[in-house]
Amino acid sequence: MPILAFFVTHYVLSIFSQTFFLHRYSAHRMFRMSVGWERFFHLLTWLSQGSSYLQPRAYAILHRMHHAYSDTPKDPHSPRFFGTAFGMMWHTKDVYLDVLGRKVEPEARFEGGYPHWALLDETLNNMYVAVAFGTAYVLFYMHYATSPWQYLLLPVHFLMGPMHGAIVNWGGHKYGYRNFWNKDDSRNTLPFDIVTWGELFQNNHHTFGMAPNFAVRSFEVDPTYQVMKALQAFGIIDMRGAQVMRWRPEDRLAPAASPLALHEANPADAVAAE
Ligand SMILES: [Zn+2]
Ligand SMILES: [Zn+2]
Repeated sequence: MPILAFFVTHYVLSIFSQTFFLHRYSAHRMFRMSVGWERFFHLLTWLSQGSSYLQPRAYAILHRMHHAYSDTPKDPHSPRFFGTAFGMMWHTKDVYLDVLGRKVEPEARFEGGYPHWALLDETLNNMYVAVAFGTAYVLFYMHYATSPWQYLLLPVHFLMGPMHGAIVNWGGHKYGYRNFWNKDDSRNTLPFDIVTWGELFQNNHHTFGMAPNFAVRSFEVDPTYQVMKALQAFGIIDMRGAQVMRWRPEDRLAPAASPLALHEANPADAVAAE
């Protein structure tokens, strides 16, 4: 039972941190929060992603590249150019490490606006800390595992962040339905996205890149947005003035048939750094 609780807690906190803090806050700045709460969620992201922590700067730059160049050769992770999700994520890792290590100079428009905490993002963001987190997972399993097969879950803990990335970036641009005509391959994979907490509404999100609610149809549920509504009610985040997604059946058609095609001013295509 402790193993199941640990696995579910690690999985949920890790994907929540990715979609809420790294994606919607760091990369897109869809909402505001105080410096204190920003530090709280930054720490939560570092703790929950643990051995596969993604630095907000490198995440934001890669993600802004993904929106600007979605499913073109400059996209850091498009399934269009790879035979397997593993191959795609291996390439993503190379781009990520180049940005993280400042071996490449990103386009100026992709820089800025993301949180920075030198202690977590530089000092404690290295291989030794990753191994320490991994060792802690192994020790927990050695103490609480009740059957040998449970150790098969350990690689998921080690690679939680990249695993979620692979599901979203591969599945979300390959499998599912489209609500909106747009220029990339993005799909909505699950109407109730409990697997990645809303990230699999890629087609909705690529069309309305600054809308905090990734769901738009009556049958779609974005779990993270439900949490964000509660955080807003408690005054922890401020989503006032954020973009609101709209949908009509004709939005599935190409612009010639849909004069109001919603590709007009997609703010995510030109992310303005604050
Ligand atoms: Zn995408
Ligand atoms: Zn995005």
